[in-house]
Amino acid sequence: MKQKLNVLIIEDEKSICDFISTCLTAHDCRVTTAHTGKSGLSLITSQCPDIILLDLGLPDMDGVEIIRQLRSWSATPLIVISARTQEADKVAALDLGADDYITKPFGTSELLARIRTAMRHSRRMTASEAPRIFHCRDLTIDVDRHRVTLKGQDVHLTQIEFKIVVFLAENNGRVVTYDAIMSHIWGPYAGSDNNRILRVNMANIRRKLEENPAELQYFFTEIGIGYRMAEAE
Ligand code: CA
Repeated sequence: MKQKLNVLIIEDEKSICDFISTCLTAHDCRVTTAHTGKSGLSLITSQCPDIILLDLGLPDMDGVEIIRQLRSWSATPLIVISARTQEADKVAALDLGADDYITKPFGTSELLARIRTAMRHSRRMTASEAPRIFHCRDLTIDVDRHRVTLKGQDVHLTQIEFKIVVFLAENNGRVVTYDAIMSHIWGPYAGSDNNRILRVNMANIRRKLEENPAELQYFFTEIGIGYRMAEAE
């Protein structure tokens, strides 16, 4: 029998908790819920969930604090559920080690896609078998051969552009913050307040790899947060 995915939802809004719980139970998950940060933290240690869905605005503590505590000892995949529009909170959550976020209100398919992506990335990290070729519709990124093709045609990217594309491909399906990309490409001292160089490179990447700038297919912007590459096959 297939092992059920254990999901812990830490969310004080009952309607949202019920919605997620119903949806995930219908998709063969075992769901546990907590309505406060304190009970959430204790369930994390007692239940060892496979994945955690966390609301940032909890009555007794800030969700960001839970991420900070969790990440000091565990790499359990965690997706932030956020009603907040303030990008700063999401960025803080991601930079502290949240795997992704989803903004309320969201639908079932979006939630399931986020969970699938987070689980896939975490399995890959533990198995350390990162794929070296990514296919996404007409785009193929072959890391070892240093080759990017669009509809079978080679596309020339600069070294920096290639590095950015590979980093986004390795994280395909989930958001990567500006800071994370900046420090991955230009080092930790690149200076996060100036991401102009990143934006210039992204514009070039899109010019080369996106057929229609008005209808992006591969490299999406999460305004105020970072970039997300479409999920690879
Ligand atoms: Ca809340």
